[in-house]
Amino acid sequence: MTSRRIPLVAGNWKMNFDHLEATYFVQQLAWKLRDARFDYKRCEVALMPSFTSLRSVQVLVESDKLRIRYGAQAVSVTSQGAFTGDVSADMIAHLGCSYVIVGHSERRKYHPEDDANIVDQVRAVLAAGMQPILCVGESYEERRKGIELDFAVGQVHDVTRDLSDEEASRLIVAYEPVWAIGTGMVATPQSAQDAAKAIRDDLTATFSTTVGDTVRILYGGSVSSKNAVELIGEPDVDGFLIGGAALKVDELTKICRLT
Ligand code: PGA
Repeated sequence: MTSRRIPLVAGNWKMNFDHLEATYFVQQLAWKLRDARFDYKRCEVALMPSFTSLRSVQVLVESDKLRIRYGAQAVSVTSQGAFTGDVSADMIAHLGCSYVIVGHSERRKYHPEDDANIVDQVRAVLAAGMQPILCVGESYEERRKGIELDFAVGQVHDVTRDLSDEEASRLIVAYEPVWAIGTGMVATPQSAQDAAKAIRDDLTATFSTTVGDTVRILYGGSVSSKNAVELIGEPDVDGFLIGGAALKVDELTKICRLT
């Protein structure tokens, strides 16, 4: 990545860890990173627990003044009212969250999250003062047809094109090829770079050079301490969205230190 953007290592815990496990993990990670003299100014570290753990993580982070950030995995598109089971962006922001994952492929698959809903989630997150981590990426079928770049760029474009420059500059994009998520199959550094560059070029064309240069583009999909160094060596890859490896504190510590 270029030195202008600060890399981000974000752990997506999905539906794992109750609040006790979550706080124990955060304590261990903070302790291991402190032991390693980790420089949080050089690389941001964030965790995305379940809604039920956010308050516990907040209390720990704030009381011990930890530098680890945190966020949510999804958000309601409405701000309040008769929406049983939903959690609003303001509720999440009031827990000190910095980020919300939007449009993860598992949400697109198991919940009725289409582009229109994802646009509204992005807007809700931005309006509440947080940063959306917008997930995009092709399935195996699109890759087989050789249309993976157009597909990922199109997903970002369709969701973001009506944002203002100021809103777009607060986006984070996670390029996560669906075939790589949880499979152990990782994109090559070159193909992660090609996708990140194509997305960045489209943001520059749609908005401005400043937006293109500012937005962090993460890679996600079977990231591990074995493949992180090569991936982060690519100029347009600004960090990672990590599932499985973010459930193992030693592995996540290693990835943070390598990024
Ligand atoms: P994985 O998941 O690292 O386990 O492949 C990534 C994600 O779903 O964000």
